[in-house]
Amino acid sequence: MMRAESLGMSGVTSPVSNARVTDGDSPPQSTRVMDAEGVVLVECTGRVTAFNSQAAAHFGIPVPLHIEHARLPGCEWVREDGTPLPPRDSPLARALAGELVDASLWHVLRPDGTRAELRCTAVPVRGGDGQVAAALLRTHAVDALPVPVLDASRLLAEAGALLGTPVDAEARLEPLLQLLVPALGEGALLILRTPDGAGAEALRVAASLHADAGRHTLLRELLTRYPPEPSAPDGPPGAFASGAVGRLSLLSEEHVAALAKDAEHARLMREVGPHGCLSVPLGARGNVLGTLMLLRSNVMRVFGAEEEHFLTELAHRTALYLENARLYREAREAVRQRDEFLGIASHELKTPLTPLSLKVQLLQKQVVVLAREGKEVPTERVAEALDVVQRQVRRLSGLVDNLLDVSRITAGRLRLEMEELDLASVAAEILYRFSAAAAQAGTELGLEAPVPVVGRWDRLRLEQVVTNLVSNALKYGAGQPVVVGVEAHGSLARLTVRDHGIGIAPDDLARIFERFERAVSDRHYGGLGLGLYITRQIVEAFGGKVSAVSTPGEGATFILELPRGDIPEEWISAHAAPGPTQGE
Ligand code: ADP
Repeated sequence: MMRAESLGMSGVTSPVSNARVTDGDSPPQSTRVMDAEGVVLVECTGRVTAFNSQAAAHFGIPVPLHIEHARLPGCEWVREDGTPLPPRDSPLARALAGELVDASLWHVLRPDGTRAELRCTAVPVRGGDGQVAAALLRTHAVDALPVPVLDASRLLAEAGALLGTPVDAEARLEPLLQLLVPALGEGALLILRTPDGAGAEALRVAASLHADAGRHTLLRELLTRYPPEPSAPDGPPGAFASGAVGRLSLLSEEHVAALAKDAEHARLMREVGPHGCLSVPLGARGNVLGTLMLLRSNVMRVFGAEEEHFLTELAHRTALYLENARLYREAREAVRQRDEFLGIASHELKTPLTPLSLKVQLLQKQVVVLAREGKEVPTERVAEALDVVQRQVRRLSGLVDNLLDVSRITAGRLRLEMEELDLASVAAEILYRFSAAAAQAGTELGLEAPVPVVGRWDRLRLEQVVTNLVSNALKYGAGQPVVVGVEAHGSLARLTVRDHGIGIAPDDLARIFERFERAVSDRHYGGLGLGLYITRQIVEAFGGKVSAVSTPGEGATFILELPRGDIPEEWISAHAAPGPTQGE
């Protein structure tokens, strides 16, 4: 005979050792199992010997034949605050361990994500030898918690007011989360994808909030110490990259174990939760900008379809807002750059005009005065004036050419006429053109080009590139020697322009190849900030690349690498360089 150490139990026949479960020592509360009562009887071996339809309804599972380690398949026992309960603390496990669980309230998360609040009584059932042979669990459903009404239109209207102007967009994200917390969840996160420029991608927590002050601090600590990763295999971050809706009914111990990087990470996850979470993509114009995530510390409130629908709508509006704010920022930046450029361009165009018009006026006066006196204008005076005029006109047309080039490049109209050329000869020719100006400035120009380096390029554009680099080396070279080197590396031609001037700060090295970008003050050096931009565009049109290395204060070296194009194989071998130069 087995005895159930129970209150109020009768009428359930146990197949265990043909025993009949009796009321035990206490007086029965009821003489029959009520309709609404779920009854489960499990042997120590895990065999289920009773599981009525009410129990199946309470736990939301089909009648199991076997239960491993007192765990009802697909169900999780949780505490009142929604945190998962260790499996050994469940009523069934306690009863199997010989403990009596008396009509107390328990919370269960069912496989479909819904929750049940059950009044449970669990008793050990002992065999004739006094050992626990089975456990009997009786369950009664408690009235469901009232479901809060979601006032979506009010929340969306408030969000609309917040997301009005695109200025300071990110500062509005935390107030946006305040609309959701605690109305829809105990916590909320807004995570943005940030391409790092090298093709990879990182995630950035743009705003985070938890209704509970202690958990708010823990959440921030968790996110700072263990920032979300786009490559996280499972769990909430899965939605970041895919743009799918992510839903987690319960962050169980298994999830924590799978996601945690170390013990500290696991501790923070357990303490913060989330015990339930819903994440929706921030999608705008076909792009997924990130994720909006609601966290629940109390899984008794499961996220429903209505909340998912609302959150998706809000995320879409937020994404459009962020996207518009980005476009607005970019447009303002473009206008600022244009205004700054117009200022510099007018100054640059004016600079040669002043000496030019002075010279012309002076010459005009002299011609008039001399003519009145019936004298001839001395030829050398005219020649000297015309020299100045010609220099300034050349400078002006150079500036205008640069402007035209930029508009050609922007419109994609940079046309190249490829022909076979020797880069070493082109470099020599350009240095020759600069020789007079360099001599005047006392700057030494050197060429290191031991062999011809032949390839297929556009002559005028190639000359323009070399001219830009050499003129910069003279301009920023502080009068120190400038050396141009040309060599071949198999199918690549390499040209370097080395100076020993002011140099370039590391942060500016990449920027100076962009349009209008300059790394010097316009009070000290003239220029439009277009030369290197045009250079890069031409070099890239040749399929090559241009870069710079520099130590500020010690000079800069610009390196040009150009594919030699479709040229006969014997040319490459005939003029092949002995190998990479020293130091490479
Ligand atoms: P610009 O010389 O007209 O300003 P560029 O596009 O030719 O425009 O150059 C962009 C910027 O790069 C310059 O303003 C200068 O700050 C920097 N730079 C270019 N060449 C050198 C060099 N050889 N040494 C130091 N700085 C340089």
